[in-house]
Amino acid sequence: MPQEIMKNIYCISITLPNSPLRNLNSYLIKGEERNILIDTGYNHPECREGLLNGLNELEIDMAKTDILLTHLHADHTGLAPEIAVPGTRVFISRAEIPWMFGTSRKELWALDNIKLARSGFDMELINNSLRNASSRNMASNPEFDKYLPIDDGDEFKCGGYTLKALVTPGHTPAHMCFWLEEQKTMITGDHVLFDISPNITLWNFVEDSLGDYLKSLKAIDSYDVRLALPSHRGTGDFHERIAELLAHHEKRLEECYEAILNNPDSSVYEIAGKMTWKIRCSSWEDFPINQKWFAVGECHSHIRHLEMLGKVKANEDEKIIRFRAV
Ligand SMILES: [Zn+2]
Repeated sequence: MPQEIMKNIYCISITLPNSPLRNLNSYLIKGEERNILIDTGYNHPECREGLLNGLNELEIDMAKTDILLTHLHADHTGLAPEIAVPGTRVFISRAEIPWMFGTSRKELWALDNIKLARSGFDMELINNSLRNASSRNMASNPEFDKYLPIDDGDEFKCGGYTLKALVTPGHTPAHMCFWLEEQKTMITGDHVLFDISPNITLWNFVEDSLGDYLKSLKAIDSYDVRLALPSHRGTGDFHERIAELLAHHEKRLEECYEAILNNPDSSVYEIAGKMTWKIRCSSWEDFPINQKWFAVGECHSHIRHLEMLGKVKANEDEKIIRFRAV
């Protein structure tokens, strides 16, 4: 049952199968002539049923609905091509369009595999885990190519509201938040989550994803946000949460630096194994492979930020990249 958050704005909670995120909050804004739907859920029958039930209950005509995607991740974008009909416009941040379809997506995924191998991940393990990775096998239909670009500052009007797009890179290369200035409400996507800290990995073609993320967090902290609408689970105090997230990464950077200092010439994979993770596992070896994949990505973004700060140095001469403290 969609929940009305404010007049004409509804939250459809979509269950995400086998995901620690648990649910996706899809937001629907009902307008006089056209509606806006923000994010969709995985390309998976259970998500599709949840989304379609919500849209039916709200009597939404998809021909009169535009879909805004906060970012490229499959739990947000997976169903957009499935539910779009002639008349639906599908928007996503301009720089994220190459991740969405066709050969450009395939090439980007292949580059991710190379990066994992250079991180010290066993290639066979990578291939096994990627076969089951929800980010890939529940992703949107690669044939759909009718994405329209969103740029920073673009405005969308619907149901008496104006949504201003704010590019907030970090979690993904060009993640978008949507700001409703009059209502002092921000749709935060995965940029600010309250019950979990957003995963920050190191993206190809991005120099310093964590640096971007910290900068984007500080940038939106200057908005007078009274209500945050995140993409997963519940909400909370926006500014307090930003302070917590900044402190969290500061602590993780220290921990990562210590791990490199005490284990010179280690790979990203080995450094990740020396850090602490919120997972019930007796050892790094026992981590489920998909959790290792997240941990290595998260660790890599922190190492890169330390490199940018001049605190660690990479040796890229061998097949596997190794790091030491400067
Ligand atoms: Zn995400």
